[in-house]
Amino acid sequence: MQYSAPATAFPVLRIERRGISARGSFAEAQASYLRPDPRLVQKLDDLLSKKRIGVVAHFYMDPELQGVLASCKHPHIHVSDSLVMADRAVQMAKEGAEHIVVLGVDFMSENVRAMLDVAGFEHVPVYRAAEAEIGCSLAEAAESPAYRAYLERAHSRPHALHVVYINTSLRTKALAEGLVPTITCTSSNVVKTILQAAAQVPEAEIFFGPDTYMGENLKALFTSLLDLDESAIRALHPAHDHASIRALLERYHYFEEGACIVHHMFGEDVARRVREEHPDAFVTAHLEVPGEMFRLGLEAQRVGRGVVGSTSNILDFIVAKVKEAIETGRGDRLEFVLGTESGMVTPIVRKVEALLDEAGRAGKATPTVDIVFPVASEAISTTGEAALPVVPGVASGEGCSVAGGCATCPYMKMNSLRALMDIVERVGEVPAESLSGLYPKHYDEPVFGRSAAELGGVPILHMRAFQAEGKLPPDLERAIRGPREANAG
Ligand code: SF4
Repeated sequence: MQYSAPATAFPVLRIERRGISARGSFAEAQASYLRPDPRLVQKLDDLLSKKRIGVVAHFYMDPELQGVLASCKHPHIHVSDSLVMADRAVQMAKEGAEHIVVLGVDFMSENVRAMLDVAGFEHVPVYRAAEAEIGCSLAEAAESPAYRAYLERAHSRPHALHVVYINTSLRTKALAEGLVPTITCTSSNVVKTILQAAAQVPEAEIFFGPDTYMGENLKALFTSLLDLDESAIRALHPAHDHASIRALLERYHYFEEGACIVHHMFGEDVARRVREEHPDAFVTAHLEVPGEMFRLGLEAQRVGRGVVGSTSNILDFIVAKVKEAIETGRGDRLEFVLGTESGMVTPIVRKVEALLDEAGRAGKATPTVDIVFPVASEAISTTGEAALPVVPGVASGEGCSVAGGCATCPYMKMNSLRALMDIVERVGEVPAESLSGLYPKHYDEPVFGRSAAELGGVPILHMRAFQAEGKLPPDLERAIRGPREANAG
């Protein structure tokens, strides 16, 4: 189904109770993937159940793949942000999964491997969807000499804490932990992590990295707290007030040379067009987007018209607004600007469809929900070549393509449906070693005398302890307060 609009408009996916329609070839392709071939779904379901295979996938997966996964009935399939992926893999292993396929980029499969090992499931094999490296521009930025210099600068400070984005390799995490007390974070817990660290160890000097846009956006977010009254700040974190937020800002640093190539596309031009062409839309913006788009989201959030944060925050916001419209009967058309990777649209559509269906059955009026993909006129494209897998430039007419144009991560799209089918068909049928090229990367070289898996797992365990207890674990707090052993050099 298609509906007309100006040729230059952003692609839009329209969700109504009676179905989905699309404007623009990009949105049309997204829509078509939401109704997968039932025979393929059945085949995958049967193989996963028979071979006891669990699948954990990131929200940014290809919509075609997500469409199939969402239609399967196998209980061990989970699509989420990276934080939850590893937890669910452990849960699946506890419930009897004998193999885990990770659909994501390499740092995600490394995390899953590390957490399964910690939980005593070393014997459960983990597979990636490609033998080639499934990289990430942020993870690469953290491998650079510039990042090493940033860490050494942190190492030279007396009470440094390195807050590293989870989108980094285990080797990066190990190197970092060897130099500076380090905790990993995701976009869903980074704000809380930094606020807690600053409250728990007020002398801590916080070094965030490697995502520069997120680093800048966090600074803007903390600065914006100074406009709130004290009670509103305390509602965010009971130990904070204006003075402590000012002190935090004085001790906050971020790395200035790392960007996600996908979120980089949401630049000034996109933000301006969103303002001009969609003045009444709700605006969602991931913490990784450049400043202009982030500010737009932040402004919208202040007046209840938007959200800034993680993929989960974006999904929760859209669901809450649709529910509100159904309950109050106000708003027959809701428009959401999707300021993140387009793979998010699959879980959004599934949730919104379920809400509209439930409301319709209850005899309530249902709104029309438009998801706007604010894609830039420039884009990135995949080349299929190992040496230069990603190049700037548009891949199709509207500056966006399901084959790897703007707002789609070309690394994530290395996880194809074909690759998943191939793995599940081969598991148990071929010698295990013939699948070893799909195992998460193993780092042989020790880092500061310890294995990369062991040392790199420490910052992840710190994050998990923080998630469980709401405060930094005692060993991390001691390390920030106390003198460091000299590893740098
Ligand atoms: S969208 Fe792709 S490039 Fe960007 S952080 Fe995620 S995996 Fe890395």
